[in-house]
Parts: sequence; structure tokens; C-alpha cells
Amino acid sequence: MTRRLRTLQEYVRAEAPALRAAAREPDGEPPRAPLLDRLATLQIPRKYARDPLVLDGEEYLVLSAVERVVFHEEAAAYGDAAALLSAPGSLTAGMLVAALGDDAQQSAFFGRLHERPTWTFLAMTEPQGGSDANRLHTTLEPAGSSFVLNGEKRYVGNAHRARTGVVTARTRPGPLGIRCVLVDTSAPGFSAAPIPTLGMRGALGALRFEDLPVPEEALLGRHLPATRRGMWGWLHAFNPLRCVAAAMGVGLARAAHLHVAARLAEQDVTRRRRLAELGARIAGVRSLTMAAARAVDADPGNAHLPAAAKTAAAALAVEATTTALRLLGPGARLEHPLLDRWARDAHGIEHMEGTSHIQRMTVSQALARGDLSPA
Ligand SMILES: Cc1cc2nc3c(=O)[nH]c(=O)nc-3n(C[C@H](O)[C@H](O)[C@H](O)COP(=O)(O)OP(=O)(O)OC[C@H]3O[C@@H](n4cnc5c(N)ncnc54)[C@H](O)[C@@H]3O)c2cc1C
Repeated sequence: MTRRLRTLQEYVRAEAPALRAAAREPDGEPPRAPLLDRLATLQIPRKYARDPLVLDGEEYLVLSAVERVVFHEEAAAYGDAAALLSAPGSLTAGMLVAALGDDAQQSAFFGRLHERPTWTFLAMTEPQGGSDANRLHTTLEPAGSSFVLNGEKRYVGNAHRARTGVVTARTRPGPLGIRCVLVDTSAPGFSAAPIPTLGMRGALGALRFEDLPVPEEALLGRHLPATRRGMWGWLHAFNPLRCVAAAMGVGLARAAHLHVAARLAEQDVTRRRRLAELGARIAGVRSLTMAAARAVDADPGNAHLPAAAKTAAAALAVEATTTALRLLGPGARLEHPLLDRWARDAHGIEHMEGTSHIQRMTVSQALARGDLSPA
């Protein structure tokens, strides 16, 4: 890791314990902590960023996949993964707006984030199934000089507390008929409700759009060729997002590992050996995640390394938290509520930004194309 990245890592590590203290089971109001408020005005493209983080005289926008990975991994390891998902800011929606928005759209969207901590969402998943992005049922139909939006979304991060967000919808059959639109949550026909979950509590919501008016200016990608407006945009947004999801999985695994390491007696050789094996697995997935982030920064179209890292990290998070509970013995879930919480949160990583089945298809397609060697 470079000196610059280590500086960022040390900053997040120092701030993260306050986040953890604020983050106990946030079913109602989302937890607030200085680190989350700071993140709310980061991850914004340079042209629209007004308040970069300055550490040792250097500016950090936390915009590259590598910086996002370092930030989110450390904040999950020493802070809290679910709280990160409930944080104000631009993470998911901002990726789409940066990829598909014109200057006016980007200026308005990112400008809002500077006014006060503002929650946003990216709504893709529908009740009929989220894995197949092509099978959208939400419709965007012309109505005079504008459009109307009708449909439902579920499992959407911050849906119930956002002021604005991006919604995927279909204008006509076929992949070119999929569009992304900016939606203001004060618009008539918009409703949202939280979804109770066992893991990542407080983070997810469901949305309904009933004849919600969408002005022409809210369509993302109007200035782009038809092939670049819809699916192309979100496929490119997904690659860095998968690295972030992987980083959160690695962070959860590290949190569990650190928690147990601090509690096992020195002479407990067998359990210490198991912990050391887990530590080696964490180191491996951690370096895969950094390699994926570097690959995406070099080529935003690189899908297979983020997919591989996300798959490995989702499995690792579950393995690490389950192993930690076993190593601490019967009653660990009751005696270590934080670990119990992380063990539930770990299952959420599997579903974020596509399940492992979907990631494996991405890796196998790259293999079939000859983009990576089977060795
Ligand atoms: C913590 C968390 C945060 C999330 N944040 C958001 C968000 O901000 N915005 C958003 O839109 N969504 C979000 N989601 C939803 C997430 O993207 C979906 O859960 C995911 O895409 C899977 O969709 P699904 O739950 O509808 O499952 P389904 O698509 O119904 O899949 C069910 C099962 O079938 C498998 N499967 C499906 N298709 C195939 C196939 N072709 N081949 C093999 N197996 C297959 C899947 O792997 C899965 O095991 C979030 C989910 C979680 C848990």
C-alpha cells in the first residue's frame, strides 16, 4: 500500500470507533457519526467536489476504487458495515449520475449533497427478482412533453430516508429500452417504507411509484448514444461498487477476527491456529480486493476481478463471523452482541451488487472470452 493510502487508512481507523459506538442496531433513525458526515461530501467527481478531505496536506476525494476500498474496509473493520450502508452521501446513485448525467444533472445532484447530509438511493431490484436486470417491470411512459413512472422496487439502500435517487425503468422492450431517471422523493406518486431485516438492519427500504411525473431533464444519458444510456452505465458503475461491497465483507471479517484475537488466551493453541488460518484467508481476499480495485481504476470495464473479489469476500465474511462465534464457544451470540450483529450483517454482503451466482457467471464469461487464464 502506498504512503498516501496508508494515511487515508489511518484517518478512517482513528475515526471509526465513534461510528461503532453510534451504530447499535439502527432500526429507526440512522446512526450519525463524524466519519459518516465526512463521507457524505466525498465520492463526488472533482468538478463538483467542494470539500475534499485533506490529510497531511494532500486532497482525497475517495473517488477511485482503491480509495473507496481502503475507506470502506477500514470503516467496516473498526466501525460498522451496516452504518456505512445507512450513511448519507452519493455512493451508489452517484456512480450512475457520474457515468450517465450531463453537466446540469451532475451539478444539481452533487450540489445537493453539499447543502446538508443528504441520503440518496439507487433503485434497481424489483419484487419479481433482482438478479436479472433485463426483466424490469417498472415503466417510464411518455405523457405529453414529459414522462410518468409506475412500478415497485425493494431492498433499496436508504430508499425510505432519501431526498433523491436514481431509478431504473423500461421505456420499451429490449436492452436499449432500459433507462435511468433521477427521482425527487417529494414528487407526487412517490412512497417509501423501511424493510425490516435480520442483517444490515435499518439500511433497506421499498419504493412504489404511481403515475409519478418525470420531466425530460430527469432522464440520465440524454446526451449519450442509445447504447450507452442504460445498461452500459450501470454495468460500469457496478464494477467499482462490487469492489466496495467486497471491501465491506473483508472489513466485517477483520472485525470478527480482531474481536476473537483479543479474547483468546495465549495458551489456547488449537483455537489460535484456527484463528491464524482465518487471518491468512482474510489477507488473501484483502489483496484480491485491492487488485480488483486497481484493475477497475485502470479499466472501468474490468468486470471479472471485482466479481471474483465480491464472491470471495461474501463467503469470507460469513466464514469469519461464524468461525469467530464457534471459537468463543456456546452462548457467544448472547455474550458478544457485536459479533452476533456482524454475523447477521455478513449475509447481506452476498446480495449486495449481485449474488455470487451472478458474479460467477461474469467470471466464467471472461474465462470463455479468454480475458483470463484458467491457471
Ligand atoms: C444489504 C443489501 C443492500 C442492497 N442494496 C440495494 C440497492 O441499493 N439497490 C437495489 O436496487 N438493490 C439492492 N439490494 C438488492 C440486491 O441487489 C438483490 O437482493 C440482488 O440483486 C438479488 O436479487 P433478489 O433478492 O431479487 O434475488 P433473485 O434475483 O430472485 O435471486 C434468488 C436466488 O436465485 C439465484 N439466481 C437468480 N438468477 C440466477 C441465474 N440466472 N443463475 C443462477 N442463479 C440465479 C440468485 O443467486 C439467488 O440465490 C440490496 C440487497 C442487500 C441484501
